[in-house]
Amino acid sequence: MEDYKFVGHGFADVIGQWSWQETIDRIEAMTAEDVRRALDKSRRNAKMLDDNDFMALISPAATPYLEEMAQLAHKYTLERFGRTISMYIPMYVSNLCTNFCVYCGFNHDNPFKRTVLTMDQVKNECEAIKTLGPFENLLIVSGEAPATCGVEYFENVLRTCRPYFHNLTMEVQPMKAEDYERLTHAGLNGVVCFQETYNRDRYKCYHPKGMKSFYAWRLNGYDRMGQAGVHKIGMGVLIGLEDWRADVTMMARHLRYLQKKYWRTRYSVNFPRMCPSESGFQPNVVMTDRELAQLTMAFRLFDHDVDISYSTRENPQFRANMMRLGVTSMSAGSQTEPGGYATSPDALEQFSVTDSRTPEAVAASIREGGYDVVWKDWDQIYD
Ligand code: SF4
Repeated sequence: MEDYKFVGHGFADVIGQWSWQETIDRIEAMTAEDVRRALDKSRRNAKMLDDNDFMALISPAATPYLEEMAQLAHKYTLERFGRTISMYIPMYVSNLCTNFCVYCGFNHDNPFKRTVLTMDQVKNECEAIKTLGPFENLLIVSGEAPATCGVEYFENVLRTCRPYFHNLTMEVQPMKAEDYERLTHAGLNGVVCFQETYNRDRYKCYHPKGMKSFYAWRLNGYDRMGQAGVHKIGMGVLIGLEDWRADVTMMARHLRYLQKKYWRTRYSVNFPRMCPSESGFQPNVVMTDRELAQLTMAFRLFDHDVDISYSTRENPQFRANMMRLGVTSMSAGSQTEPGGYATSPDALEQFSVTDSRTPEAVAASIREGGYDVVWKDWDQIYD
């Protein structure tokens, strides 16, 4: 365990109670009876299932029950969110990175020209995004290079973006609680952080050097967000690294832990399937559409309130089907390189998108499916 003074207390102190291998074994041992028990509990309107129920619902034993899961997932999503899909758009501000993630084109060893947007360029990006659609939810994304893109840089980015968007979320390096707090005063509403994998033994194979190689620092980052009073915390694992069922079960346990401790905070979950990147890394695990649908529905049954987000990594047809079965927010029109909207559209992308439709086309297809598009679900006067 890394030194407490360095990583702080948090979920890293408690995750050891669940063994990775035992989690896999328990999921594999789930039977039709376990699945029926979880579904009965859900049908009796249990707002929150436990991790045992969740493991049953994501297990291979649940495959014959997908239709029932779909009906319940649809019902609970409608009850809690109505027929709505929230829209957001990412804005990459930097691809400078001091980490060595083996699956990412932005990793430190990849020789390409790095870009850190200036505030004028950030402003240009905001203006270019505003011409694409009435977006109010902006996700600010960057590589992890705290010496150049530290709290001061992001403070400036947030202040520059603030006049254009009501809701600002960041997906950057994990920070100290006091830094998150400082950024909330500059307009930060939410933080997204991907643990990538909860498998502690294998974590370092994918993150061999740099700050991201410290498993506990990253894992306890969510506690630091909660302590700082960040309004919304986004969690995620990268599907393609380790056994996905074990990874999402750990994430479900992590979500429950955070909900108990930081109950004022809202949560979202994300399970992106790995896309090809410049690094040439091939996924170790492939998740089928059917499995992703099962996972999404299981998460909705596990937690009726959590926001489930799909990015443009997923294809248009699949996204359209899943908005009825648990998904509540989507990105559209995404560029995954810094300056991609206005400044340098030919820079290296972090990953290639699968849904390359315009935001207008994505919104039209959501409406055709009988759902309303929500561009704004937060106003800065709440800050
Ligand atoms: S995944 Fe993030 S931290 Fe890792 S190399 Fe890519 S940009 Fe850097």
